[in-house]
Amino acid sequence: MNYLDLTIKEIHEALVNKKVTPLELVNEAIKRAKEDKCNAFEYIMEKEAIEMAKTLTEPEKDNLLWGIPFAIKDNISTKDVPTCASSDILKDYVPIYNATIIDKLLAKKAIPFAKVTLDELAMGGTGATGHLGKTTNPYNNERMVGGSSCGSAAVTASAIVPFALGSDTGDSIRKPASYAGLVGFKPTWGRISRYGLFPFTPSLDSLGFFTRSVYDSATILNAVAGYDMHDFTSSKEKVDDYTSDLDKSIKGVKIAVIKEILDTISDTNIQKKFQETLKIYQDLGATINYVSMDRHLLKTLFPTYYIISCAEATSNNANLDGVKFGLNLEGDTFNDSLIKTRSKGFSERIKRRFVIGSYSLMAENQNELYLRAIKNRHKIVDEINKILKDNDVIFLPASPSTAPKFDNKVDQLEDEYLIADNYMVIANFAGLPSLTLPVGFIDNLPFGFNLTAGAFKEKKLFNIAKALEDKSGFYNLSIRTKK
Ligand code: GLN
Repeated sequence: MNYLDLTIKEIHEALVNKKVTPLELVNEAIKRAKEDKCNAFEYIMEKEAIEMAKTLTEPEKDNLLWGIPFAIKDNISTKDVPTCASSDILKDYVPIYNATIIDKLLAKKAIPFAKVTLDELAMGGTGATGHLGKTTNPYNNERMVGGSSCGSAAVTASAIVPFALGSDTGDSIRKPASYAGLVGFKPTWGRISRYGLFPFTPSLDSLGFFTRSVYDSATILNAVAGYDMHDFTSSKEKVDDYTSDLDKSIKGVKIAVIKEILDTISDTNIQKKFQETLKIYQDLGATINYVSMDRHLLKTLFPTYYIISCAEATSNNANLDGVKFGLNLEGDTFNDSLIKTRSKGFSERIKRRFVIGSYSLMAENQNELYLRAIKNRHKIVDEINKILKDNDVIFLPASPSTAPKFDNKVDQLEDEYLIADNYMVIANFAGLPSLTLPVGFIDNLPFGFNLTAGAFKEKKLFNIAKALEDKSGFYNLSIRTKK
């Protein structure tokens, strides 16, 4: 029996019954990590994980995370463990503190196992822009696993670990979850402390995770949610028991489908599956409401995201100057050293984002670009909140396709790209909890659908997701368990 093929809940039972030990799990994870074909690792915490596993000898019956190894996106700070956000600018940087999410998982005695790849500084969606090159899809290495949380998706779908931490600014957990057949979750903005997450766009950033079941996702949220004095944007809203309503009937639940987003998807397999899935929900007693959003407003989602995220990224990454940490190149003057370091440390793609960010923040452009984007964000958020006032969730395909090839060329001015490929940023604009779960395969590649609920309605969200997971049969998918 290979216990790493199981979900957290199932591994926990095996641990409690002493069928397997944390040390055996870690050793098996190391073996699998060394066979990885996806290029998913920045740093395997071999020594650290073994050391910790050895101290875990008495299983804790009521603590599901006890002895469970997990992977960490490398833009999350880990004390004494190299953390470079897949960027040369942070070469050899070793943080002196843990992110709060890491400390909370350590308190549960989950075992940090590895730092995994991302699109450089989490700015990207292909999993191809990190300093180690492409991270590929375990179902097909010629294809993307998506990004920016590429390594996290790859190692969870390869069953190297049962869960991995990621971050989501636009869709960086929920899109790769679709491409990799996983449950990918981001909570309400502020539900999980961001202390120790390298900031990309703080007004949109959320920590979250990849799992192979809805139950596991709710279990992790139980462990990591809550106010943190190190992050004043973390919420004081009461923390629920997110697993307690999972099996509640969804009779009477209202599910909204935004017509204009669904309509831009051309793949007939995805459309067919979506209709079948709506039928599952109806049979369970839910009501489906087709709602409308202005198509022109939807077409502004991506440009609005781009201006806001580039502007915030420019100012939030100003500390990466080589003076305090990371890459440092000598220069004749202080400025000369900064210029050399930043020119060499960031890839062209990142520099392009900084140029756009600086341009939109310049005094003479601010009204026309940055402030206009902010106003438009509010308009979009108002529309979404209106929909969620009358509905429990918004339900849509997470992506218009399965995992694309790396050389895939898309027309970025087409509605399918502007709307269906980028709409999930809505949940970041409005700070809403959002979850992707697997629903099927096309040509041996998985794909998923996405659910977004109102702020702090995580419990409801997990309940509605679990109802579908129970019926669809797409539970605990990985390349090792695939039927
Ligand atoms: N793909 C988006 C981008 O390129 C989102 C990234 C993210 O969510 N971190 O910025």
